[in-house]
Amino acid sequence: MAQQKGEVKEMINTRILTQEFDYFAPESIKQVVELLERHGEGARVIAGGTDLINQMKEEKMSPSCLVNIMNVKGLRYIKEDEGLRIGAATKLRDVRAYCFKSRYVALYEAISSLGKPQVWNMGTIGGNLCNASPAADTAPPLLVFKARVKLVGKDGERELLLEDFFTGVNSTVLQPTELMVEIHLDPPGDGAGNAFLKVARVGADISKVSCAVFLKRQGRTCTECRVALGAVAPVPMRVKVVEEMIEGREIEESLVAKASEIVSEEVKPIDDIRSSAEYRRQVAAVTFRDVFWKAWDRAIGGKN
Ligand SMILES: Cc1cc2nc3c(=O)[nH]c(=O)nc-3n(C[C@H](O)[C@H](O)[C@H](O)COP(=O)(O)OP(=O)(O)OC[C@H]3O[C@@H](n4cnc5c(N)ncnc54)[C@H](O)[C@@H]3O)c2cc1C
Repeated sequence: MAQQKGEVKEMINTRILTQEFDYFAPESIKQVVELLERHGEGARVIAGGTDLINQMKEEKMSPSCLVNIMNVKGLRYIKEDEGLRIGAATKLRDVRAYCFKSRYVALYEAISSLGKPQVWNMGTIGGNLCNASPAADTAPPLLVFKARVKLVGKDGERELLLEDFFTGVNSTVLQPTELMVEIHLDPPGDGAGNAFLKVARVGADISKVSCAVFLKRQGRTCTECRVALGAVAPVPMRVKVVEEMIEGREIEESLVAKASEIVSEEVKPIDDIRSSAEYRRQVAAVTFRDVFWKAWDRAIGGKN
């Protein structure tokens, strides 16, 4: 029966795992790929399990085989090398700790707003991206840092921009035999500032709206600008018309106000249990404006 507007859909949560599945904990990327290939479409990578185990308890997903990647060597690291390289199975806790006081403060702010320490201790950055929630909090900052993701599968390795990775709600370009191994962020460069803000019903809740901005400034001129929002479209999205409108311009309140109106026109939100589409549209504009000014101040050494 179709759900009526305003009706709350009953959500199954068995709170136990009712399904049987095979379980493997390989130690190399090669073994992971072999297991995924051998067990076919029913196989699923598990990292921290903070999304997947809930989905199994809610009976949204019934994998016949779980391949745990947390013992795999070479998937958990953070290193500066032509920007920042993060192994996909690196825990949110470690990424957050690294990004505090780094030039990637928007990523620190995003993880700080994501769940609580228990979630940071279990969840991984790759899991947050591969789960492909429109509200994944690490996605907007990674999009504005022009992150690329490296995938490895039976046909070898490929690298693509994060903005080409998401294809829809909980859907990505990942093939059944592929896993994500690395996330690579561009170096910010001189005169850069970035920031992230999220609006949610309560602390530690999924976003109603989230926004990240990366920019560079020379005096009053913004020479580079990237804007990304979460929870306002089927996938985390860049707002390129706004970026083009701002780049190369002297920054004035009126320009940022106009840009924020365009943000609210560009987003494609829905009504759901967390918010209405109309509220999201309005809050997207305000959130963008606040994040922009934060990043703008930070580009000349401001802290707030
Ligand atoms: C209480 C609670 C609060 C939360 N709050 C938030 C929040 O505010 N914001 C938010 O964004 N998220 C939130 N989450 C969701 C969650 O913690 C994150 O999405 C987490 O980062 C997922 O990482 P994981 O390692 O646990 O992934 P898993 O659950 O292990 O995996 C998630 C999905 O990604 C796939 N996968 C994982 N790693 C890889 C890989 N390397 N290659 C290929 N596929 C892979 C799995 O097959 C699975 O489909 C919350 C979760 C909980 C339990």
